[in-house]
Amino acid sequence: MRKPGRLVLAVFVDGLGWEVLRGRRFLDDLLPHRFPMATMFGYSSTCDPTILTGRLPREHGHFSSFFYAPEASPFRPWRALGLLPASFADRGLVRRWISRAVCAAHGYDGYFQLYAIPFRHLHLFDYAEKRDIYRPGGILGGQPTVFDRLRAAGLPFSVSDWRRSEAENLEEARRRAGEGEVALAWVFLGGLDGVLHATGTRSPAVDRHLATCEERLRAIVAAARDRYAEVRVHLFSDHGMTDVTDTCDLVARVERTGLGFGTDYVAMYDSTMARFWFPRPGARERVLEALSGERRGRVVTEAELAAWGCDFPGHRYGEVYFLLDPGVLLCPGFMGARPIPGMHGFDPADARSVAAYLTNAEDSPRPGSLTDLHDLVLREAGVGEPR
Ligand SMILES: [Zn+2]
Repeated sequence: MRKPGRLVLAVFVDGLGWEVLRGRRFLDDLLPHRFPMATMFGYSSTCDPTILTGRLPREHGHFSSFFYAPEASPFRPWRALGLLPASFADRGLVRRWISRAVCAAHGYDGYFQLYAIPFRHLHLFDYAEKRDIYRPGGILGGQPTVFDRLRAAGLPFSVSDWRRSEAENLEEARRRAGEGEVALAWVFLGGLDGVLHATGTRSPAVDRHLATCEERLRAIVAAARDRYAEVRVHLFSDHGMTDVTDTCDLVARVERTGLGFGTDYVAMYDSTMARFWFPRPGARERVLEALSGERRGRVVTEAELAAWGCDFPGHRYGEVYFLLDPGVLLCPGFMGARPIPGMHGFDPADARSVAAYLTNAEDSPRPGSLTDLHDLVLREAGVGEPR
């Protein structure tokens, strides 16, 4: 049987930082060409839409899950949950159940998590990722994703389902590669990020997880090589991971101002930064003064936000961003009440934040940033000049 031409295997490994790879062997023989790649400021909720569209955050409109929008908040009917005793409402299981109920009630199909946001504040926020960004129309800015472009070009492809387990997605990719009918297989591996968060970057659990991924990816490539004349692998991540060395109780510092949450100021306490809005004049100065007492972080300048492509119209995701130093976890915060060993979302220029790109294609142009992956993958798949 004549072999079909080329399979483009795009492997997205969440959390595989350039520094995570340092000193480790991971597919060295299969993917010998490897480079650091610049990440975005923010979390996967910023990085992933950039990978899928090739656009900066200010263009695609995604940054973080929650932003201040009291009039538009879909959580207003859920306000009564704030009356639940904290001992009950803060249990992970209860929060997951409520997250699912909110999704079902509003018809959301995106990635939705309430994390540890106090229910008494929820009605002040709207949620950005209501739609699944992997489906048509999922990008807030309306741009087509890699998958929309492949569909428009009529190119057969397969793509992992982020709702399924990593093992299931790897098995599905191996099956599709072995059938020889797709031109592109997009494999998403979310497991490593979880292991890095839970155990830090240097733990044996990370080595074990990488070894399992390596074995299964080799099986996919072997199955593909039976069916395709050429298999071009492009393996990339969205961001790195930083070992947590310290925690910072920024919430307590801001609360000591005596200002009212929801009346004077509104804050979203992410894992590595706090974002503030100021509905009442005068509060901004007092919050900034309180923040100036915290030496393990800094207010991000407007120039930095612009350089990072995070200068959103109307300061949608925050009027003031206070970013902690690499390794300092904002805890307790709205993303979690207890410290964890690894986190990302620090200064994108810090070496530990940097993402990675690995390939077997010697002639592939080197992507300098996540913004380059969209065009790279489409060009590899033979889809004409993107955009
Ligand atoms: Zn993560």
